[in-house]
Amino acid sequence: MDIYLLAFLLIILIGSVLVYVHYLKEKKEELDSIRRGFCPRCKQDSIELTDQRSGGCSGPQMLSYECLSCGYVNSFAVDSSDSCCGSGGCK
Ligand SMILES: [Zn+2]
Repeated sequence: MDIYLLAFLLIILIGSVLVYVHYLKEKKEELDSIRRGFCPRCKQDSIELTDQRSGGCSGPQMLSYECLSCGYVNSFAVDSSDSCCGSGGCK
């Protein structure tokens, strides 16, 4: 009985890890496309940064992008370790 329960939990665990990895991969591909200036959905160069939030220099930065052609909206958490040397200077 226990072995079935274990196998079931293992399948659930592996399944969710695979889904998560797939999600991260897709997210990364979308961010790559946006970084090049193209919308990942309609492939137009009408992507715009609409929001930029940061929890300071230590945490990741939240970047929100919107496509002006197809209405694609997505947010990305980006490691901002090297983005604190801007107007405020490095600390
Ligand atoms: Zn688009």
